[in-house]
Amino acid sequence: MSNKENTLIHDACDECGNKTDGLMTCHFVDGETTKLCPDCIIDSGFCLGCGEYCSGISSFDFSDIPGYCDNCRDEIKSNFDEDENNKESYCGYNENT
Ligand SMILES: [Zn+2]
Ligand SMILES: [Zn+2]
Repeated sequence: MSNKENTLIHDACDECGNKTDGLMTCHFVDGETTKLCPDCIIDSGFCLGCGEYCSGISSFDFSDIPGYCDNCRDEIKSNFDEDENNKESYCGYNENT
């Protein structure tokens, strides 16, 4: 048994109670956090990319990439634009540190 890559912990969504591996830790403006599945994030006003609470911010509510805040939208766009020479900027997931 290898427990080296056993990073998928199936917690339950705080909103709907579904267990999924797509849960994301979301940050309220007061510093509280909650874990939500992608479906619940869409309805909650949290950014799908970074989990910050962005509801009410016009650049979020009227984003051309729905569900993502300004910062994440920029990252997604720059990822599309500069895919060839800018592969490491998105989300910063490094497996070997
Ligand atoms: Zn949910
Ligand atoms: Zn974001």
